[in-house]
Amino acid sequence: MKKIIIAIDGFSSCGKSTMAKDLAKAIGYIYIDSGAMYRAVTLYCIEHHLFDTNGGIDEDVLKQKLSDISIRFQTDPESKRSITYLNGVNVEERIRMLDVSSLVSPIAALRSVRETLVRLQKEMGKEKGIVMDGRDIGTEVFPYAELKIFVTASSDIRAKRRFDELRAKGQTVNLEEIKQNIEERDRIDQTREISPLRKADDAVLLDNSYLSIEEQKKWLIEQYKKAANA
Ligand code: C5P
Repeated sequence: MKKIIIAIDGFSSCGKSTMAKDLAKAIGYIYIDSGAMYRAVTLYCIEHHLFDTNGGIDEDVLKQKLSDISIRFQTDPESKRSITYLNGVNVEERIRMLDVSSLVSPIAALRSVRETLVRLQKEMGKEKGIVMDGRDIGTEVFPYAELKIFVTASSDIRAKRRFDELRAKGQTVNLEEIKQNIEERDRIDQTREISPLRKADDAVLLDNSYLSIEEQKKWLIEQYKKAANA
């Protein structure tokens, strides 16, 4: 079987990361969560007080700081989970919190941020054997990926999954607030000028609203075998 690139894109909270992570593990590929990179830049902006009181940001100021931001992934030897490090600090849990989720999409719409992160992502895929999930992986980062999947599910189902996930981590969360955040991120991601979220013409569509994790896993492995044997 040849080594390929697998691009998984889709709407917020569709379970893309879980599916990409599981697939990478099953086939011995590297997994990269590109959303974590946009989240890490957003956390940097929060910590360095770059947002004004309305959540706005001066792109010129951020652009000058981009070279000070180092984002790295490392696999935790015990849990085998991929951990995101921002300038050497483990921010894996912190970047999933609602304040980061609320501010990330405007940051991800900035040209300078996208150019910097897309360059890093392309570099990560040079050797192939990678599963990357995000919003523009099949359209912009790896337009020649051998397998592209575009995931969707209803916003009610996505909000409930996110709610359960955050609650299980002990966070106090509100279902309606989560749903609003998901819909707002989808809106910004789909309407932004640079690399808007859209299905690549050659991506396979997966609506996982009513699929179990096991059914989804089986489907994904079949897609992988088809693409890697082609
Ligand atoms: O995947 P996740 O929900 O963690 O991504 C957080 C945000 O980062 C998304 O809502 C989107 O605005 C942005 N993003 C992006 N391009 C990617 C990955 C994420 O614009 N490739």
